[in-house]
Amino acid sequence: MVPGSRLILLGKQGAGKGTQCTRLSRHYVVPHISTGDMFRAAIKSRSELGNRVKQYIGGGELIPYEIVMEAVVERLDQDDTKARGFVLDGFPRTVHQAETLADILDPVPVDLVIDLEVPTQVVLKRLAARRVCTDCGANYSTDVPPKFDWTCDNCGGEVIQRDDDTQAAIQRRLDLYERRTAPLIAWYQERDRLVKISGRGDPDKVTDRLIEVIDKRRAAGGRHGGYRR
Ligand code: AMP
Repeated sequence: MVPGSRLILLGKQGAGKGTQCTRLSRHYVVPHISTGDMFRAAIKSRSELGNRVKQYIGGGELIPYEIVMEAVVERLDQDDTKARGFVLDGFPRTVHQAETLADILDPVPVDLVIDLEVPTQVVLKRLAARRVCTDCGANYSTDVPPKFDWTCDNCGGEVIQRDDDTQAAIQRRLDLYERRTAPLIAWYQERDRLVKISGRGDPDKVTDRLIEVIDKRRAAGGRHGGYRR
């Protein structure tokens, strides 16, 4: 397997994007870029960016375009991303963001955009049970907790329920997903970049399904190796 790929995972909150992006990032040796993790880290470190985004995240609102793009452009400009590509998680979230991303990446588009499909009643259940590490962002649940007392198995960080996994914020985020993010499915379909994959069932099986479609796309003419612009 030649390292390097440019991937985007779309899907409702709780569809399993975080878990699957971490695995794809290891498999294809590309950075996992999660805008949600970037903003939560900024809030935790009390940086200026953190102060600017805190209110939006807490309420389940989308962060304004300019703030998001500033953070994403800075991240995409780093050497690891330029050399090997990326797996994007939580970005783009609007057609406006997708258009700007396409301009930034021009002339080499993303290899594949995967819509991880999970029915709403399933994600509602998953979100209520979801717990995350405040340090590395690893996902757990009340059904599959860390081994020791809500301490992360990977990094020893504290594992908690996210502030925006409350009933009201979840509803708001799912609503925003339908209105602002779901139109990206048609947008990428029109550009022949999109594949739909079921995100239901055993996470290992979901990973196998993802790798199968990504490898197929890579074999059919995706770029191999470096992406240096
Ligand atoms: P996530 O971890 O992807 O669910 O993101 C958590 C929160 O971060 C979202 O509810 C938004 O408030 C904010 N956020 C993350 N990514 C974006 C984005 N691409 N555009 C706007 N807001 C975002």
